[in-house]
Amino acid sequence: MVKLPIPKPVSGGIFLTYKCTNECRHCMYACSPKWRDDWISLTDAEKILKTISEFFRAIYPKDFKRVGVNLGLHFTGGEPFLNFNLLLDLVKLAQNLKIPSLFVETNCFWCINDEIVEDRFSRLREAGLNGALISVNPFVIEQIPFERIERAVKIGRRIFGGNLIIYQEIFYEQMKRLGLKGTLPFEKYLSIMRVRDPLGLYAGLSYPSILPMGRAPYRIGHLYKKYSAKEFFGESCLEELTREWHVHIDNYYNYVTGYCAGLSLGDA
Ligand code: SF4
Repeated sequence: MVKLPIPKPVSGGIFLTYKCTNECRHCMYACSPKWRDDWISLTDAEKILKTISEFFRAIYPKDFKRVGVNLGLHFTGGEPFLNFNLLLDLVKLAQNLKIPSLFVETNCFWCINDEIVEDRFSRLREAGLNGALISVNPFVIEQIPFERIERAVKIGRRIFGGNLIIYQEIFYEQMKRLGLKGTLPFEKYLSIMRVRDPLGLYAGLSYPSILPMGRAPYRIGHLYKKYSAKEFFGESCLEELTREWHVHIDNYYNYVTGYCAGLSLGDA
């Protein structure tokens, strides 16, 4: 039997759940409110975190806290803040294991006032979280009022300093320039941007701002040039499948490498 050697991960994320408040058109993992209310168990998460901490200990300097999309460990989903107590417990576990560059990703649905954001971010910070990644794109803002995202950025910067990541800056700046208040349907985003900033629109909807996988081909595929399956017969997924950075482990313990949203390499 031919074996596929998989390198040890150097950075990655743990899915708390596939459940989300949103059903974004571009979501790599097709998350939505319709997913079952399944969450990673603390007991199993602890086993995974122990293994990750051993791998990371061999490569990161002691007490390394700088956060980056492809650094350390992040908690993600789905939307982690749908189960804040579990998120907090996971951060404490990871902190006890001295896992470096620990951050959480969020769509900011919960950032309805300053007090809540201050409280949640501060408690996570005290528990050992090093930073936060705020999702900003034309799909998230179809459902999340932009004011909540701005609030998370403002307070997150105060609490996490340079470890507050806006993913992606290009979209955040576009929404700021549009003076966006509330939500914005994607079709309206397209029609406004076609007139006001066609180059920004092109850059925003191109790779790597948009990763053409998961729900994206079904919901926004009509915006892109299509190729028949045979055009890809000479391609290989080997590099993606054996990529050691930004791997994901989901709440069913699937080990999913690279940006592959479809293949599990086994039980983590
Ligand atoms: S907010 Fe994130 S996880 Fe939720 S549906 Fe949108 S892209 Fe997916």
